[in-house]
Amino acid sequence: MLEEGGRFLGCALSSSSSQIALRMVSDRECDQSELPSIVATRVKKAIEYRDTLRISEQSNAYRVVFSEADQLPGLIVDRYNDVLAFQVLTQAIDRKEVREAVLETLDTEIGPAGIVERVDARIRELEELPATEGGLIRGEKMRTIIEMSTNQDESPLRFEYDAAAGQKTGAFLDQRENYAAAQRYARGTALDVFCYQGGFALHLARMCNQVIGVDASRAALEAGERNFELNSSLLAAPEIEWLEANAFDLLRDWSDTGRRFQTIVLDPPAFAKTKKALSTALRGYKELNLRALKMLEPGGIFVTCSCSHHVSQQEFLETLADAARDARRRIRLLEVRGQSQDHPVVAGIPETAYLKCVIAFVE
Ligand code: SAH
Repeated sequence: MLEEGGRFLGCALSSSSSQIALRMVSDRECDQSELPSIVATRVKKAIEYRDTLRISEQSNAYRVVFSEADQLPGLIVDRYNDVLAFQVLTQAIDRKEVREAVLETLDTEIGPAGIVERVDARIRELEELPATEGGLIRGEKMRTIIEMSTNQDESPLRFEYDAAAGQKTGAFLDQRENYAAAQRYARGTALDVFCYQGGFALHLARMCNQVIGVDASRAALEAGERNFELNSSLLAAPEIEWLEANAFDLLRDWSDTGRRFQTIVLDPPAFAKTKKALSTALRGYKELNLRALKMLEPGGIFVTCSCSHHVSQQEFLETLADAARDARRRIRLLEVRGQSQDHPVVAGIPETAYLKCVIAFVE
């Protein structure tokens, strides 16, 4: 790959079908046959990086490889205790010899009891990759229990992990540090909207006497209840109420009928999957945030998130300010946060920063 004017830039993976034609993989000259060994070295480096940050002291569930952020465009590997889940999103990484190099390195460096492939069918189709079912690729284990610590003095919370079920690669590990942050401020009666399997809800339940989790997925809520049972001795809340509902309808009803909470978490799915969907997405965020703000008691804690790549931190903060103005609430920003450190953000690659998590004090 050459710069305008002819200076050598580096080499890149190409895709015949993606809107992203080239993905930089090295700043040195290299040829195709070297790709498996480049990939193996990068996977090792990615593992070392997490070790340097001592991520495993916080949790045995974290992202081991994060695509471009680890110079491995199109490869995601998540560690769930002794089970690894991986996902391939580009043609170059899907090649047989490259996949083998990834699996070999993971086996030698981590030695998991199972390696599972998780498939994002939509991306595979866009990338013109053959459809595959995924599933167990190595070893025999697909289910395990993961742990997350918020600080050294507390026993970690435990969550079930089942590689044969769930969304993404199974859990939302990018929110792990935000669970701990939310727990620090949470109190009173709490509502976790878009709760999935209870990542936030369980952390809130350590501090709050009443917690409600809302999600549209019954399977996710059932896993949430099992997670509650795994941890009940560590929690202040005697139970968590899991509500299967469309969050938009529920927030509209509850804000109109005057339901009030002292802590609210909003963590919706990505509304803006494409640049074109941006303005509709911002309207969706504003509506949800407005409703939630109306439902907060004075002095309440609001944790509001967006995982849309196409919504910048600034746009998200402006939307929140807009919602606060319409709700006639003054809010103070306690923390403006991003994704956990095992999902690195690389300076100069804005696409690697996608998660926004704002914690605010609502007057
Ligand atoms: N907070 C979660 C992750 C949320 S992901 C965690 O930390 O683990 C988004 C969730 O929103 C998914 O669980 C999905 O089932 C749910 N969802 C999507 N659309 C919804 C809707 N309209 N109403 C309620 N839940 C919805």
